[in-house]
This record gives sequence, C-alpha cells and structure tokens, in this order.
Amino acid sequence: MTQPPSAMKPVPQWDERFRLLLEASPAGIILVDAKARILLINERIESWFGYSREELVGQFIEVLVPDSVRPHHIPLRDGYLRAPTVRPIGSNRDLTARRKDGSEFPCDISLHPLPLPDELQVMVHIVDITERRRLEAERRQQESHRRLRFMIDNLPAGAVYVSGPVIAANRATEAITGYTRQELHTLESWFGQLFGERAAEVQAQYEADRILHFPKTRTLEIIRKDKQRRWIELAAYGDDQHEVWLLYDVTERIRAQDQVVQSERLAAIGEMMTALAHESRNALQRSQACLEMLEVDLEQQPEELDLVQRAQRAVDELQRLYEEVREYAAPLRLELQSSNLRELWRQVWANLTPSMGTKSITFQDDCPLVPVADVDRHRFCQVLRNIFENSIAALPATGGMISLTSETISWQNLPGLQITLRDNGSGMSPEQRARLFEPFFTTKARGTGLGMPIARRIMEAHHGEIELGPLLAGTEIVLRLPTVNPSVPTPA
Ligand code: ADP
Ligand code: MG
Repeated sequence: MTQPPSAMKPVPQWDERFRLLLEASPAGIILVDAKARILLINERIESWFGYSREELVGQFIEVLVPDSVRPHHIPLRDGYLRAPTVRPIGSNRDLTARRKDGSEFPCDISLHPLPLPDELQVMVHIVDITERRRLEAERRQQESHRRLRFMIDNLPAGAVYVSGPVIAANRATEAITGYTRQELHTLESWFGQLFGERAAEVQAQYEADRILHFPKTRTLEIIRKDKQRRWIELAAYGDDQHEVWLLYDVTERIRAQDQVVQSERLAAIGEMMTALAHESRNALQRSQACLEMLEVDLEQQPEELDLVQRAQRAVDELQRLYEEVREYAAPLRLELQSSNLRELWRQVWANLTPSMGTKSITFQDDCPLVPVADVDRHRFCQVLRNIFENSIAALPATGGMISLTSETISWQNLPGLQITLRDNGSGMSPEQRARLFEPFFTTKARGTGLGMPIARRIMEAHHGEIELGPLLAGTEIVLRLPTVNPSVPTPA
C-alpha cells in the first residue's frame, strides 16, 4: 500500500520553517546587532549584493553602503541604535546600496527593531527598486512625449519630423494638405501626393537643399487631396540626426500679391484699350461700311471680291480682338442664377456644331446627377465655349473625341462641382502648358490668346478655379466651383 506524499517526508521543525520563510521573502532581510554588525542575511541579499553569507556575517552594515555615503552613515546609524524606532518603507527615499563589485543599485530600506528582552537587534528590510525606477522613468518619458506631441499637434503651423525615409506630420499639416498623416508617412508619398508630375523635380531640389543644410525657405505649390492647388512656405532645419520642417499655407498672401500686380496691369491695359477702342471703333465701322459697298459693286469680279472678303475678315478679327481685350480688362459683374450646367454645356456644344466643318467629332457627357450651381450663365457659357473651341481646333482634320464628366466634390469646405473636359487632340508641349493662362499666348494664326485668361477670370469671380489636368494624350481642363456661391445670400 502506498502512503500519501506528506506522510513520506518528515514535517520540518519550527526553526526550519522560519528559515524557509526567511529565504522565501521577496525582500532582502538583514539582522544587525546593537553595534551594527551583521548577524544574519537571507538569500536575496546574497544574490543582490554578490556576497556569500560567510563574507557578510560579522561585518559592519556599512559594507553595503556606497563609498561616498559611508562616512556620514556611521554617526547616523549610531544615533539610530541609541533610540531605535520603526522606520517604515518609503520614509527614506533615494537610497542606494553597494554591491561587492562596487556597483550600486537604488533601494528602499525600512528598519524594524526586534523587541528582544536582553539585547537590541534590528531587522533591515531592503527592496531593490531598480525595476520600479525604470518604469517610473519610462512613464515620465512617455508623459513628456505625450506633452510634446500635444504641443506639436496643436501648433498653428504644419510641422513634419523626418527620420530617414519615414516622416511624421502634425495635425496642422493634415489640414494644410488634406491628407492624413498615414497617407503622407514616407518622403516618397509626401512628394508623390503633393507635387504630382513635379514630384521628382521638387524632391531633387529638397535633396540639394539638405546637402547645404537647408539654406533657405522655399515657397512651393502643392496639390491638396481635394485637388486644390495651394501655396506653402516650407522652412527646414536639420543636422545629421534630426530634421524638422515647418510649413505655412501662404496661398492667400500670394493671391493677394498676384491680384495687386494683375489689377495694376489690367487697369493700365483697360485704360489704354478704352482709348484705343474709342478711336478705332469709328474707323473700323467706316471701313466695314466701305467694304460692304465694294462687295456689292464687285459682285461680278470674283478675284476682287475675294480680296474684299479677306479685308472684311481682317476687320472682323480686329474687332473681335478689341472686344476680347476689353472683356479681359473690364471689371466683371456676375449675375448669378442657380443653373443646370448640363443644359448650358449642351447648348454651347450645339451652337458650335456649324463651326466644326467636316471634322467628325464625338461628344460625350457623363454626370450621374443633375449638375446645378450658381453661375452667371452668359459668362459660364463663355468659359465652356472657349474650352470647346480650343479642343475642336486641336483635333486633327479627321476629327476625334471630346468628353465631359461632372462630379460633386467638397470645394473649400463647401459642396462643389468638378467638371473635367478632355479631348484627344494634339495636346500641348510643356512650354505651352506653362503659358496656357498667360494673356496673349496663342499658337493660332488668328488667336487672341485671351480665351483661357478670360476663362480663369470668370472662374475666379465664381469663387472657383480652372486648371490644366495632368499630362495625358490630348488635353484635360478641370473646372471647380462651389454649387452655392458664397456671395449669393441664401433665401430666408
Ligand atoms: P486662343 O484660343 O485665342 O489661342 P486661348 O487662351 O484659348 O487662346 O488658348 C491659348 C493656347 O493654348 C492656344 O493657342 C493653344 O496653343 C493652347 N490650347 C488651348 N487649349 C488647347 C487644347 N485643348 N489642345 C491643345 N492646345 C490648346
Ligand atoms: Mg481659345
């Protein structure tokens, strides 16, 4: 018959139980006598301090005190031993103990005099608080990171920290760019998302600036996630290990500067043109009247008639040029009306059909919802007409395709519309693309080069914009505007 295990082992004696209890204590325990000599230690003390029991028993307690504290310790412990009291845990902060190898560790020490009848003995209770200190330090560091992060996140400026290929952006950067920080978390996504087709060029400039430790602040045009173009001013600071960028949206400032320059220019052109138009109108009308009379006289003489008709066309062109320049320079006053834009572009397209001659052009429009916006119908049709006319002119003699899509977007935090017009015509060279909105830039023998600048003025007067889409085969023009114009008071 087998016996239960407890019956097999002898039950330890009380002394042995106390010894096991002492050794099992998670704290280090030392017993010292009235002279501060070590009488007994537990195993925890051996392992923390690196001494064996034999080495420590009989030594003064100061063997465990750091060298620098030792001289002060002797009078203190003598004072204590003359009038011993319980010193609980935590009553003596910032203590350190010395290991056998001279290294030190932080500890918490409490003192407990034992109530023995014949002599004084004191139990020294030690807890190694290295781990607790480490956790406290970690918590403090986390807290200071949290505060720093809060501060950076609430800066009114965009701030970006660059670490190798990875970047960390703050909340203001998200507001400036429209992208979340996850979407911008590498240099590659930063340049790719914000600079579109200019990404490589801007990144090369940044690399060059970095080599020179960022000598200057750059003003850069970015493309926000909602496709708006904005201007930012970016100042970078860096050394070998850290790099920080600060950015501000300076679009309004730049627009205001541009507007001043532009309106001064326009005022000058306007004045000149008004004078010129006044002087020329009579002359043009007179020559047109004469040409009409000549036309009647020369009905039987085809060669002369052809010359007269050419002269008439030249006069027409001159008149159109005057009209467009005046239009470009004169102040724009919009009469906004809530309008179905699909009706407008279909009407403009229908009016243009006769001018296409033999070109066979497919027109396709695609918009899931009825596109309604507050526009000045006459002006908005002017924008569409010029874009269509340009596309028709860019298509080869055999014809091609013109398409239009419309979608709802959020535009400057308001509901808006984006209309994209594409053709598969000749497209433009990079130089032409850069100059598209420049007044008088034209590649046409009879162009005025004012169509696109006028279109831009009209779109901006609608609180919208017009821009050239990405480099594709053919040309893409994008219009964006608010559906409810901020300058129209909403009906009560
Ligand atoms: P204009 O039509 O009088 O030349 P615009 O301002 O309308 O003036 O256009 C300026 C120039 O931009 C055009 O002469 C042409 O070179 C170029 N352009 C405009 N739209 C297109 C297009 N869809 N395809 C190719 N080139 C275009
Ligand atoms: Mg044009």
